[in-house]
Amino acid sequence: MPFRWSINPYRGCAMGCVYCFARITHWYLDEDGVRDWTRRIYVKVNAPEVLRRELARPAWKRELVALGTATDPYQPLEGRYRITRGVLQALGEFRTPVSIVTKGSMIVRDLDVLQELARGPGCSVSFSVTTMDAALARQIEPDPPPPLQRLRAMQRLVDAGVPAGVLVAPILPGLTDAEESLEAVVRAATDHGARFLGGMLLHLGDVTRDAYFEFLEHKYPALIPEYQAVYRGKYAARDRQRRVQEVVAALKRRYLIPQGTGVRTERRNPSAEQLSLLAP
Ligand code: SF4
Repeated sequence: MPFRWSINPYRGCAMGCVYCFARITHWYLDEDGVRDWTRRIYVKVNAPEVLRRELARPAWKRELVALGTATDPYQPLEGRYRITRGVLQALGEFRTPVSIVTKGSMIVRDLDVLQELARGPGCSVSFSVTTMDAALARQIEPDPPPPLQRLRAMQRLVDAGVPAGVLVAPILPGLTDAEESLEAVVRAATDHGARFLGGMLLHLGDVTRDAYFEFLEHKYPALIPEYQAVYRGKYAARDRQRRVQEVVAALKRRYLIPQGTGVRTERRNPSAEQLSLLAP
């Protein structure tokens, strides 16, 4: 991982994406990561307070903190609890750079704090967008805002001086990995001012594999033999991974999105490729 520190204000996520790799974190708590991932959500109500104590230690070196590496920090409960906002304020007070991964357009609520961070220690925001097909997105990502709404939120951040880009992740074989599908996302990302872009093929670890195959059985049973062939283990076959990376790289060249670099790396923000490792 391109960072040593991460914070997840919530455990579990009401957005319910079928491919979510963090489902296994429920299993660590003896919870059902397939059925209860969206229904039993742990809320770390004192996270900002604990974080301030940790950041105040003389040994803290203000290294990059990744926010939302396992669960979305702008999932619906954030509207009520505002923990992510409190965490960002604490990071700003202690001049600590942050990178955020989200699908939540609610992030624009915190534009003031993000601007402060961007002007100060550094801040970058990656929006996870897997497809521009709103109907397909509704199937694979039942509860996040539609893709276009995420991109409009990204544009508001970019226009306000907050570095933001897109993670085309995860890319789903047979559903979103066709060149036309990937190009639609890259084109829309460019149209909305993306400052960087990364992509990553789906991986299917424990628990996620069960949830994902359950989804395929219900919606796309004809794809199951292909998935069984491509996913003999957690990761897709190498030739499949290579093909997708080549297509994404070619699209970035065609749409003039810088290769490999995110923005303001001098402030220790990770690159788009590094960020793509984080996309849940
Ligand atoms: S992929 Fe992200 S938004 Fe979707 S359920 Fe997982 S944490 Fe939530």
